[in-house]
Amino acid sequence: MYAAAQGQCEMCGRTIDRHGATLALDYKIPPDWGGRDEDENLWVICKDCSNGKAENFQDEKCALKWIGNIFANDIVRAGKY
Ligand SMILES: [Zn+2]
Repeated sequence: MYAAAQGQCEMCGRTIDRHGATLALDYKIPPDWGGRDEDENLWVICKDCSNGKAENFQDEKCALKWIGNIFANDIVRAGKY
C-alpha cells in the first residue's frame, strides 16, 4: 500500500519528501461504521487528514457525507484510469 501511494497522501496529495507529511495506513471507512478489512477499504493518508477524518466520524451526518465522498472519489478514479 505504501508503494502504491508513492509516499503521497491519497487525500490531500502532500508527500513525505516535499511536505514532510507523516503518512499512515488507514481505513477509508472505519470498521465501526461497517468498513471491511480489505485493500479497497484501506489507503495511505497523512496525519492531518486522518485527524480531520476522525472529527467527521464523531457526527453521524458528517460521517455519512464522508462515506458518500469516498465513493464519489472512487467513481471519479474508476473513470479516469
Ligand atoms: Zn493528507
